[in-house]
Amino acid sequence: PALNKRRQGEQRICVCVRKRPLTCAESRRGEADAVTTSDRECVVINETKVALDLTQYILQHRFFFNQVFGEESSNEEVYQRTAYPLVQHMLSGGEATCFAYGQTGAGKTHTMLGSATGKPGLYELAVRDIFTHLSTSHVQNQAYVSFFEIYCGHLYDLLDHRKRLFAREDRKKAVQIAGLRTVRVESADSLLEVISQGIKERKQGTNGVNALSSRSHALLEIQLKGENLQSAGRIWFVDLAGSERASDTKDPNRQSRIEGAEINQSLLALKECIRTLDQKKQHIPFRQSKLTQVLKDSFIGDSLTCMIANISPCHLATEHTLNTLRYADRVK
Ligand code: ADP
Ligand code: MG
Repeated sequence: PALNKRRQGEQRICVCVRKRPLTCAESRRGEADAVTTSDRECVVINETKVALDLTQYILQHRFFFNQVFGEESSNEEVYQRTAYPLVQHMLSGGEATCFAYGQTGAGKTHTMLGSATGKPGLYELAVRDIFTHLSTSHVQNQAYVSFFEIYCGHLYDLLDHRKRLFAREDRKKAVQIAGLRTVRVESADSLLEVISQGIKERKQGTNGVNALSSRSHALLEIQLKGENLQSAGRIWFVDLAGSERASDTKDPNRQSRIEGAEINQSLLALKECIRTLDQKKQHIPFRQSKLTQVLKDSFIGDSLTCMIANISPCHLATEHTLNTLRYADRVK
């Protein structure tokens, strides 16, 4: 227990914003970039208004965060300033969770999984650091991985042909996912291979590209266990469902409405649960959604949380961008 004491002054919740560049297609269409960033500040230009006396007013929204990454920031830089401290915490026996939040197309998967050109994302950078540590450490800890998806409040195992899973609390009030496949891995490469199998499974469940994956949360869990299988540290990486789906509550399609309501509920519950980390509250409302229920241990004890709120720079996305920034603002 003395091992996972946090260093003095270390923050339990870190909320960051990452702006992606305009895509080639957006640039070609001449879309405007409505977001400017600096170290800790993010400004969104909403619209330009002309008053009766013909003076122009620019409606700006200004937000401050622990970190703001502009379009020039690489995954490596984002990793160093977001997940890296969580990995260190996990390696000294702690619990840590890293979330990618944002509208579909804002860059969550790019951040977590990496770019199409093969630049690694946070998953891989963390995995490499974990195994570098394990290979030089005198303690004999083993790494285990599990990977599952939450869609419409149901759990599906991405390492076991999307087998439906059930979460329940045991007598000690610990949340257990019955039947979840947990794979013991001996090297960074084999862990990355397991992750890519899970990603394939995630994509196969869909007819169209990105269709289902934008409506489900993907939870990757990497756990270290000591000799008698007791936990010696754990980190979660959560690629959340597209936040714009939370407003699908008026969609004419019934299934979309159900999905939207479910996503809305889980993102609200998540915000409330993360906020309790800083408020020393006794009651954590983790039962309000499946997502927060399975992440229960992340909201108690000495755990660290980092949220990366991904935003699109495109002026057409301004409304969703503002929603994301407001959500992130309330988490911190
Ligand atoms: P999401 O997972 O949030 O739906 P993606 O990660 O799939 O979004 O990103 C949407 C598109 O934008 C992809 O083509 C991706 O390659 C590109 N993209 C996202 N973030 C960046 C970035 N930081 N730099 C360059 N391209 C990015
Ligand atoms: Mg994605």
